[in-house]
Amino acid sequence: MANKGLLIILSAPSGAGKSTLISLLKRDFPSLEFSISYTTRKPRPGEVHGRDYFFVSETEFLQLRDNAFFAEWAKVHAHYYGTPKNQVLESLQKGKDIIFDIDVQGAKQVRANLKKGVFIFIFPPSLKELKNRLQKRQTDDPQTIELRLKNAIEEIKEAHFFDYWIINDKLEQAYSQLKSIIIAEKLKPCYQPENLIEEIIKDE
Ligand code: ADP
Ligand code: 5GP
Repeated sequence: MANKGLLIILSAPSGAGKSTLISLLKRDFPSLEFSISYTTRKPRPGEVHGRDYFFVSETEFLQLRDNAFFAEWAKVHAHYYGTPKNQVLESLQKGKDIIFDIDVQGAKQVRANLKKGVFIFIFPPSLKELKNRLQKRQTDDPQTIELRLKNAIEEIKEAHFFDYWIINDKLEQAYSQLKSIIIAEKLKPCYQPENLIEEIIKDE
């Protein structure tokens, strides 16, 4: 494999703690790139266009989709979401590691289209705690929370597709598990310098 960039795909039911874990990764892995998705969902308070998402209208999204702009896209919780191809391709060309916060449908497309990556599923400790977190976050109305909880069950049933499972009960523990996966994955020979063996034995 010529390319050493690692694709890290994180999926979880809404409210399980993906964004929280990703913000910790941003702090500790400054060279890690983050794929910024396009969405037709309205911004939440504090979300910034171009940093959290590119917020677009449904017409714009569908036009981009029809122009093959996305590496993958899906309708999730009644809104469209998609990963722009250009950022993924750029990261891969530069050999950079890049993280994707996408749903299960998107994760399946990434595996099928790009045929690489480490696929990690984050579980909440229980559905009760998931509801609790969604309510406490105060970013969604009760109807949206109900829809996200209903979809959570279907998403959790798809967890077998993933390479690793993390239960985000205690945040510190879940984060340390996530970091361990990334560190271990990068130690696989396919992500190491191609001439490492020759370099080590050259003075023999
Ligand atoms: P997601 O990005 O998966 O939708 P968030 O990261 O926004 O989820 O987390 C949902 C809410 O739960 C947030 O208010 C966050 O602060 C909180 N949260 C995340 N992880 C934990 C945890 N381990 N224990 C308790 N609360 C958590
Ligand atoms: P939220 O609206 O809470 O930010 O995200 C809702 C869901 O959409 C989450 O499961 C998130 O992972 C998923 N999502 C965000 N961006 C993308 C994307 O580009 N593609 C896909 N398939 N899902 C996405």
